[in-house]
Amino acid sequence: MKIKQISNHIWSLKTWMIIPFHVWIVVDKEGVTLVDTGVPWMAKSILQLIDKLQVGPLQRILLTHGHSDHIGSLKKILLAKPVPVFVHSKEIPFVEGDKPYPQKRKAVAQVTNGFLRPLPEDTSGELSPFGELTPYYTPGHSPGHVVYYHKQDDVLLAGDLFNSKNGKILKARFTPDPKEALHSSEIIKQINPTRMEVCHGDSVFKPADQWSELVKQYHLSE
Ligand SMILES: [Zn+2]
Ligand SMILES: [Zn+2]
Repeated sequence: MKIKQISNHIWSLKTWMIIPFHVWIVVDKEGVTLVDTGVPWMAKSILQLIDKLQVGPLQRILLTHGHSDHIGSLKKILLAKPVPVFVHSKEIPFVEGDKPYPQKRKAVAQVTNGFLRPLPEDTSGELSPFGELTPYYTPGHSPGHVVYYHKQDDVLLAGDLFNSKNGKILKARFTPDPKEALHSSEIIKQINPTRMEVCHGDSVFKPADQWSELVKQYHLSE
């Protein structure tokens, strides 16, 4: 398990199983927000890192989406620290097993009903921020995928909106709706963050500079 401080308020924790898996620990005045929970064997290291940082208690868990490699440690973490868990409302029926994920034959209940809370929205339907972290709805890889932008640190936590390798953005694997994903990808132009982190890959600096390369990847794979 590899721990890295990404920016003033963000740490990442990484493990490998053929590909890398990341989760992020985001610190503010009140304590810690965990973004995604990775695969099941990351739970112990996540809890240890939160304790070791001594920056306050775990306040909440925010999910980018509900694929199993992003909610793997959820149960174990909640047994130790029962905190609210938020995900986009559009993702909830897929995680709760009411509907099969696109291109999957079977619906699988990963959590019990009523357990996940929808990310709060304001009256205009915009997702509300949690301190410095603002969620943006970015469907395509999954129906309710979101990314989280940390304004002060100028870091985008992009989940599976992309993969990356050696600093290069790659179209995310297992994306059932590439058209929608490409449309959602425009968030990197809109926000133009200094740094982007993805779950399966390494850091990407100034991702918006790679926009035209990314569009080519989508068109080549059509
Ligand atoms: Zn995924
Ligand atoms: Zn993933």
